[in-house]
Amino acid sequence: METKSIDTKCLIIGSGPAGYTAAIYAARANLSPILYSGSQPGGQLTQTTEVENFPGYPNGVTGQQLMEDLKNQALRFGTDIRSGIITGIDTSASPFKVTINGSETLSAATIIIATGASAKYLGLPDETKYAGLGVSACATCDGFFYRKRTVAVVGGGDTACEEAIYLSTLAKKVYLIVRKPFLRASKIMQERVQQIENIEILFNCNTLGLFGEEFVEGAHIVEGKGTENERNFDIAIDGFFLAIGHKPNTDAFAGKIELDEAGYIKTYNGTTQTNIPGIYAAGDVADPRYRQAIAAAGTGCRAAIDAEKFINENAI
Ligand code: NDP
Repeated sequence: METKSIDTKCLIIGSGPAGYTAAIYAARANLSPILYSGSQPGGQLTQTTEVENFPGYPNGVTGQQLMEDLKNQALRFGTDIRSGIITGIDTSASPFKVTINGSETLSAATIIIATGASAKYLGLPDETKYAGLGVSACATCDGFFYRKRTVAVVGGGDTACEEAIYLSTLAKKVYLIVRKPFLRASKIMQERVQQIENIEILFNCNTLGLFGEEFVEGAHIVEGKGTENERNFDIAIDGFFLAIGHKPNTDAFAGKIELDEAGYIKTYNGTTQTNIPGIYAAGDVADPRYRQAIAAAGTGCRAAIDAEKFINENAI
Protein backbone atom coordinates (compact mmCIF):
# COMPACT_ATOMS: atom_id res chain seq x y z
CA MET A 1 0.00 0.00 0.00
CA GLU A 2 1.28 3.45 -0.84
CA THR A 3 2.23 5.58 2.15
CA LYS A 4 2.30 9.33 1.78
CA SER A 5 3.82 11.67 4.37
CA ILE A 6 2.76 15.30 4.65
CA ASP A 7 3.77 17.81 7.31
CA THR A 8 1.49 20.46 8.70
CA LYS A 9 1.73 22.81 11.66
CA CYS A 10 -1.89 22.18 12.51
CA LEU A 11 -4.06 19.20 11.69
CA ILE A 12 -7.76 19.59 12.41
CA ILE A 13 -9.85 16.44 12.62
CA GLY A 14 -13.56 17.05 12.07
CA SER A 15 -15.74 19.45 10.12
CA GLY A 16 -18.46 20.55 12.51
CA PRO A 17 -18.68 24.05 14.03
CA ALA A 18 -15.64 23.30 16.25
CA GLY A 19 -13.44 22.06 13.39
CA TYR A 20 -14.29 24.88 10.98
CA THR A 21 -13.94 27.58 13.63
CA ALA A 22 -10.55 26.15 14.61
CA ALA A 23 -9.63 26.23 10.91
CA ILE A 24 -10.67 29.89 10.51
CA TYR A 25 -8.49 30.90 13.48
CA ALA A 26 -5.56 28.62 12.61
CA ALA A 27 -5.53 29.76 8.98
CA ARG A 28 -5.64 33.42 9.97
CA ALA A 29 -2.70 32.71 12.33
CA ASN A 30 -0.69 31.38 9.36
CA LEU A 31 -0.64 27.80 10.61
CA SER A 32 -1.74 26.56 7.13
CA PRO A 33 -4.14 24.03 8.65
CA ILE A 34 -5.19 20.80 7.00
CA LEU A 35 -8.70 19.74 7.96
CA TYR A 36 -10.03 16.21 7.50
CA SER A 37 -13.78 16.30 7.21
CA GLY A 38 -14.50 12.77 8.49
CA SER A 39 -17.42 10.44 7.90
CA GLN A 40 -20.08 13.13 8.20
CA PRO A 41 -18.82 16.31 6.51
CA GLY A 42 -20.37 19.30 8.23
CA GLY A 43 -21.15 17.23 11.31
CA GLN A 44 -24.40 16.83 13.19
CA LEU A 45 -25.84 20.18 12.14
CA THR A 46 -26.19 18.95 8.58
CA GLN A 47 -28.83 16.58 9.93
CA THR A 48 -30.84 19.16 11.80
CA THR A 49 -33.50 21.43 10.35
CA GLU A 50 -33.69 25.01 11.50
CA VAL A 51 -31.03 26.41 13.85
CA GLU A 52 -32.60 29.25 15.80
CA ASN A 53 -30.02 29.82 18.50
CA PHE A 54 -26.76 30.46 16.64
CA PRO A 55 -25.94 34.14 17.21
CA GLY A 56 -25.79 36.24 14.07
CA TYR A 57 -28.79 34.63 12.35
CA PRO A 58 -31.78 36.60 13.69
CA ASN A 59 -34.19 34.76 11.40
CA GLY A 60 -32.67 31.32 11.94
CA VAL A 61 -30.66 29.33 9.42
CA THR A 62 -30.75 25.74 8.20
CA GLY A 63 -28.05 23.46 9.59
CA GLN A 64 -26.80 22.82 6.04
CA GLN A 65 -26.49 26.53 5.28
CA LEU A 66 -24.73 27.30 8.56
CA MET A 67 -22.14 24.61 7.89
CA GLU A 68 -21.70 25.78 4.29
CA ASP A 69 -21.07 29.31 5.59
CA LEU A 70 -18.51 28.08 8.13
CA LYS A 71 -16.78 25.95 5.50
CA ASN A 72 -16.56 28.86 3.07
CA GLN A 73 -15.13 31.07 5.79
CA ALA A 74 -12.45 28.45 6.54
CA LEU A 75 -11.67 28.14 2.82
CA ARG A 76 -11.43 31.90 2.43
CA PHE A 77 -8.34 31.95 4.65
CA GLY A 78 -6.69 29.01 2.91
CA THR A 79 -7.66 25.94 4.93
CA ASP A 80 -6.77 22.75 3.09
CA ILE A 81 -10.00 20.74 3.46
CA ARG A 82 -9.70 17.06 2.64
CA SER A 83 -11.99 14.04 2.64
CA GLY A 84 -10.96 11.16 4.83
CA ILE A 85 -11.23 9.55 8.22
CA ILE A 86 -8.46 9.48 10.80
CA THR A 87 -8.18 5.82 11.76
CA GLY A 88 -5.11 5.89 13.99
CA ILE A 89 -2.84 8.25 15.90
CA ASP A 90 0.71 7.97 17.21
CA THR A 91 1.28 10.42 20.03
CA SER A 92 4.56 8.95 21.25
CA ALA A 93 6.78 11.45 19.47
CA SER A 94 6.57 14.95 18.04
CA PRO A 95 5.59 15.63 15.29
CA PHE A 96 2.56 13.42 15.85
CA LYS A 97 1.57 10.93 13.20
CA VAL A 98 -1.95 10.06 12.10
CA THR A 99 -3.22 7.39 9.74
CA ILE A 100 -5.90 8.32 7.24
CA ASN A 101 -8.35 5.72 5.91
CA GLY A 102 -6.14 2.98 7.36
CA SER A 103 -3.29 3.58 4.92
CA GLU A 104 -1.91 7.08 4.31
CA THR A 105 0.02 8.81 7.07
CA LEU A 106 0.48 12.48 7.88
CA SER A 107 2.68 14.19 10.46
CA ALA A 108 1.54 17.25 12.38
CA ALA A 109 3.10 19.59 14.93
CA THR A 110 -0.26 20.13 16.61
CA ILE A 111 -3.59 18.35 16.34
CA ILE A 112 -7.04 19.68 17.10
CA ILE A 113 -9.54 16.88 17.59
CA ALA A 114 -13.07 17.99 16.77
CA THR A 115 -14.67 14.70 15.82
CA GLY A 116 -17.96 15.37 17.58
CA ALA A 117 -20.43 12.76 18.69
CA SER A 118 -22.75 10.21 17.06
CA ALA A 119 -26.32 9.13 17.68
CA LYS A 120 -26.88 6.38 20.24
CA TYR A 121 -29.03 3.32 19.63
CA LEU A 122 -31.03 1.34 22.18
CA GLY A 123 -29.00 -1.79 21.51
CA LEU A 124 -31.92 -3.91 20.29
CA PRO A 125 -31.03 -6.59 17.72
CA ASP A 126 -34.02 -5.36 15.70
CA GLU A 127 -32.32 -1.97 15.19
CA THR A 128 -29.67 -3.78 13.15
CA LYS A 129 -32.15 -6.11 11.49
CA TYR A 130 -34.23 -3.18 10.20
CA ALA A 131 -31.37 -0.72 9.60
CA GLY A 132 -32.34 1.20 6.47
CA LEU A 133 -35.65 -0.69 6.48
CA GLY A 134 -37.49 1.63 8.83
CA VAL A 135 -34.91 2.36 11.54
CA SER A 136 -33.12 5.71 11.44
CA ALA A 137 -31.34 8.14 13.74
CA CYS A 138 -31.93 11.13 11.49
CA ALA A 139 -35.41 12.47 10.82
CA THR A 140 -34.10 15.19 8.54
CA CYS A 141 -32.31 12.65 6.37
CA ASP A 142 -35.02 10.03 6.20
CA GLY A 143 -38.26 11.75 7.18
CA PHE A 144 -39.24 12.29 3.57
CA PHE A 145 -39.76 8.54 3.11
CA TYR A 146 -42.51 8.57 5.72
CA ARG A 147 -44.86 11.11 4.20
CA LYS A 148 -48.45 10.41 5.27
CA ARG A 149 -47.29 7.37 7.25
CA THR A 150 -46.94 6.63 10.96
CA VAL A 151 -43.62 6.87 12.78
CA ALA A 152 -42.22 6.72 16.30
CA VAL A 153 -39.44 8.80 17.83
CA VAL A 154 -37.65 7.50 20.93
CA GLY A 155 -36.37 9.97 23.51
CA GLY A 156 -37.52 12.85 25.68
CA GLY A 157 -34.83 15.48 25.09
CA ASP A 158 -34.58 18.43 22.72
CA THR A 159 -33.44 16.24 19.86
CA ALA A 160 -36.42 13.90 20.20
CA CYS A 161 -38.84 16.84 20.34
CA GLU A 162 -37.19 18.50 17.37
CA GLU A 163 -37.36 15.28 15.35
CA ALA A 164 -40.99 14.66 16.36
CA ILE A 165 -41.95 18.21 15.34
CA TYR A 166 -40.19 17.86 12.00
CA LEU A 167 -41.76 14.46 11.31
CA SER A 168 -45.22 15.73 12.30
CA THR A 169 -45.13 17.98 9.23
CA LEU A 170 -44.63 14.97 6.95
CA ALA A 171 -46.12 11.94 8.66
CA LYS A 172 -49.74 11.21 9.37
CA LYS A 173 -48.98 10.44 13.01
CA VAL A 174 -45.94 10.55 15.27
CA TYR A 175 -45.57 8.61 18.53
CA LEU A 176 -43.00 10.02 20.95
CA ILE A 177 -41.81 7.17 23.17
CA VAL A 178 -40.51 8.58 26.46
CA ARG A 179 -39.17 6.30 29.17
CA LYS A 180 -39.87 8.73 32.03
CA PRO A 181 -43.21 10.31 33.03
CA PHE A 182 -41.91 13.67 31.76
CA LEU A 183 -39.89 15.23 28.96
CA ARG A 184 -36.35 16.36 29.60
CA ALA A 185 -36.46 18.85 26.71
CA SER A 186 -36.42 22.63 27.19
CA LYS A 187 -39.78 24.21 28.09
CA ILE A 188 -40.25 25.78 24.66
CA MET A 189 -39.77 22.43 22.90
CA GLN A 190 -42.08 20.64 25.36
CA GLU A 191 -44.80 23.18 24.70
CA ARG A 192 -44.41 22.93 20.94
CA VAL A 193 -44.60 19.13 20.98
CA GLN A 194 -47.64 19.10 23.23
CA GLN A 195 -49.50 21.52 20.98
CA ILE A 196 -49.17 19.43 17.83
CA GLU A 197 -52.25 17.31 17.22
CA ASN A 198 -50.67 14.43 15.34
CA ILE A 199 -48.00 13.81 18.00
CA GLU A 200 -48.98 11.32 20.70
CA ILE A 201 -46.60 11.10 23.66
CA LEU A 202 -46.28 7.66 25.24
CA PHE A 203 -44.85 8.40 28.69
CA ASN A 204 -43.32 5.66 30.88
CA CYS A 205 -42.79 3.52 27.81
CA ASN A 206 -39.86 1.47 26.54
CA THR A 207 -39.41 -0.34 23.24
CA LEU A 208 -38.91 -4.11 23.53
CA GLY A 209 -38.53 -4.88 19.84
CA LEU A 210 -39.71 -4.22 16.32
CA PHE A 211 -41.63 -6.40 13.93
CA GLY A 212 -42.41 -6.50 10.24
CA GLU A 213 -42.09 -8.81 7.28
CA GLU A 214 -39.35 -6.94 5.44
CA PHE A 215 -39.72 -3.34 6.61
CA VAL A 216 -40.70 -2.13 10.08
CA GLU A 217 -44.44 -2.56 10.58
CA GLY A 218 -44.66 -2.02 14.30
CA ALA A 219 -43.02 -1.89 17.72
CA HIS A 220 -43.56 -3.91 20.89
CA ILE A 221 -43.90 -1.48 23.78
CA VAL A 222 -43.94 -1.94 27.54
CA GLU A 223 -45.52 0.69 29.75
CA GLY A 224 -44.65 1.03 33.45
CA LYS A 225 -41.95 -1.62 33.26
CA GLY A 226 -41.39 -3.30 36.61
CA THR A 227 -44.47 -1.71 38.24
CA GLU A 228 -47.71 -3.42 39.19
CA ASN A 229 -49.37 -1.64 36.26
CA GLU A 230 -46.93 -3.01 33.69
CA ARG A 231 -48.67 -3.36 30.34
CA ASN A 232 -47.45 -4.65 27.00
CA PHE A 233 -48.88 -3.41 23.73
CA ASP A 234 -47.95 -2.97 20.08
CA ILE A 235 -48.05 0.15 17.93
CA ALA A 236 -48.28 0.02 14.15
CA ILE A 237 -45.50 2.16 12.67
CA ASP A 238 -43.58 2.41 9.42
CA GLY A 239 -40.55 4.25 10.79
CA PHE A 240 -38.63 4.08 14.08
CA PHE A 241 -36.38 7.08 14.84
CA LEU A 242 -33.78 7.10 17.60
CA ALA A 243 -33.16 10.38 19.42
CA ILE A 244 -31.71 9.29 22.75
CA GLY A 245 -28.48 11.24 22.81
CA HIS A 246 -25.00 10.82 21.47
CA LYS A 247 -21.65 9.22 22.18
CA PRO A 248 -18.33 10.91 21.52
CA ASN A 249 -16.40 9.83 18.41
CA THR A 250 -13.18 8.85 20.13
CA ASP A 251 -12.64 5.22 19.10
CA ALA A 252 -9.52 6.14 17.10
CA PHE A 253 -7.98 7.85 20.14
CA ALA A 254 -8.70 5.31 22.89
CA GLY A 255 -5.50 4.29 24.68
CA LYS A 256 -3.58 7.17 23.05
CA ILE A 257 -5.30 10.21 24.53
CA GLU A 258 -6.90 10.36 27.95
CA LEU A 259 -10.69 9.91 27.91
CA ASP A 260 -13.23 10.10 30.73
CA GLU A 261 -15.40 7.14 31.71
CA ALA A 262 -18.03 8.06 29.08
CA GLY A 263 -15.37 8.28 26.35
CA TYR A 264 -15.12 12.10 26.12
CA ILE A 265 -11.63 13.58 25.71
CA LYS A 266 -10.37 15.13 28.92
CA THR A 267 -9.00 18.68 28.77
CA TYR A 268 -6.90 20.45 31.35
CA ASN A 269 -6.37 23.78 33.14
CA GLY A 270 -9.39 25.48 31.62
CA THR A 271 -7.83 25.18 28.16
CA THR A 272 -8.50 22.78 25.28
CA GLN A 273 -5.25 20.90 25.91
CA THR A 274 -5.52 17.14 26.31
CA ASN A 275 -3.11 15.13 28.45
CA ILE A 276 -0.63 15.51 25.58
CA PRO A 277 0.85 18.97 24.98
CA GLY A 278 0.29 19.91 21.33
CA ILE A 279 -2.98 17.95 21.07
CA TYR A 280 -6.22 19.82 21.70
CA ALA A 281 -9.90 18.87 21.78
CA ALA A 282 -12.83 21.07 20.74
CA GLY A 283 -16.58 20.69 20.49
CA ASP A 284 -18.82 17.79 21.46
CA VAL A 285 -15.96 15.28 21.55
CA ALA A 286 -14.87 16.91 24.82
CA ASP A 287 -18.18 18.34 25.97
CA PRO A 288 -20.73 16.12 27.67
CA ARG A 289 -22.42 19.17 29.18
CA TYR A 290 -23.26 21.99 26.75
CA ARG A 291 -23.24 20.28 23.34
CA GLN A 292 -24.33 23.37 21.43
CA ALA A 293 -23.07 24.56 18.06
CA ILE A 294 -22.04 27.93 19.46
CA ALA A 295 -20.22 26.30 22.39
CA ALA A 296 -18.42 24.01 19.94
CA ALA A 297 -17.43 26.98 17.79
CA GLY A 298 -16.11 28.73 20.91
CA THR A 299 -13.87 25.81 21.85
CA GLY A 300 -12.70 25.54 18.23
CA CYS A 301 -11.47 29.12 18.50
CA ARG A 302 -9.77 28.37 21.81
CA ALA A 303 -8.11 25.22 20.45
CA ALA A 304 -6.60 27.14 17.53
CA ILE A 305 -5.26 29.80 19.89
CA ASP A 306 -3.83 27.06 22.15
CA ALA A 307 -2.19 25.38 19.13
CA GLU A 308 -0.73 28.68 17.93
CA LYS A 309 0.72 29.34 21.39
CA PHE A 310 2.29 25.86 21.42
CA ILE A 311 3.85 26.46 17.99
CA ASN A 312 5.26 29.82 19.08
CA GLU A 313 6.55 28.59 22.44
CA ASN A 314 8.28 25.65 20.82
CA ALA A 315 9.60 27.72 17.92
CA ILE A 316 8.11 25.33 15.37
P1 NDP B 1 -30.40 14.32 25.90
O1 NDP B 1 -29.31 13.57 26.57
O2 NDP B 1 -30.76 15.67 26.38
O3 NDP B 1 -31.75 13.46 25.96
C1 NDP B 1 -31.75 12.10 25.68
C2 NDP B 1 -33.16 11.57 25.87
O4 NDP B 1 -33.16 10.20 25.48
C3 NDP B 1 -33.64 11.65 27.30
O5 NDP B 1 -35.02 11.91 27.34
C4 NDP B 1 -33.35 10.22 27.80
O6 NDP B 1 -34.23 9.81 28.80
C5 NDP B 1 -33.61 9.41 26.56
N1 NDP B 1 -32.90 8.15 26.60
C6 NDP B 1 -31.56 7.95 26.76
N2 NDP B 1 -31.26 6.63 26.72
C7 NDP B 1 -32.45 6.00 26.53
C8 NDP B 1 -32.80 4.64 26.40
N3 NDP B 1 -31.89 3.68 26.45
N4 NDP B 1 -34.11 4.35 26.22
C9 NDP B 1 -35.05 5.33 26.13
N5 NDP B 1 -34.78 6.63 26.25
C10 NDP B 1 -33.48 6.96 26.45
O7 NDP B 1 -30.00 14.29 24.36
P2 NDP B 1 -30.48 15.23 23.18
O8 NDP B 1 -29.82 14.64 22.01
O9 NDP B 1 -31.93 15.39 23.15
O10 NDP B 1 -29.84 16.64 23.50
C11 NDP B 1 -28.43 16.78 23.72
C12 NDP B 1 -28.11 18.25 24.00
O11 NDP B 1 -28.30 19.01 22.81
C13 NDP B 1 -28.98 18.85 25.07
O12 NDP B 1 -28.20 19.73 25.82
C14 NDP B 1 -30.03 19.59 24.28
O13 NDP B 1 -30.56 20.68 24.99
C15 NDP B 1 -29.23 20.06 23.06
N6 NDP B 1 -30.09 20.26 21.88
C16 NDP B 1 -30.59 21.49 21.66
C17 NDP B 1 -31.41 21.74 20.59
C18 NDP B 1 -31.91 23.11 20.39
O14 NDP B 1 -31.70 23.96 21.25
N7 NDP B 1 -32.58 23.41 19.29
C19 NDP B 1 -31.79 20.68 19.64
C20 NDP B 1 -31.24 19.39 20.00
C21 NDP B 1 -30.43 19.21 21.08
P3 NDP B 1 -34.10 10.33 30.34
O15 NDP B 1 -34.64 11.73 30.34
O16 NDP B 1 -34.94 9.36 31.04
O17 NDP B 1 -32.65 10.24 30.68
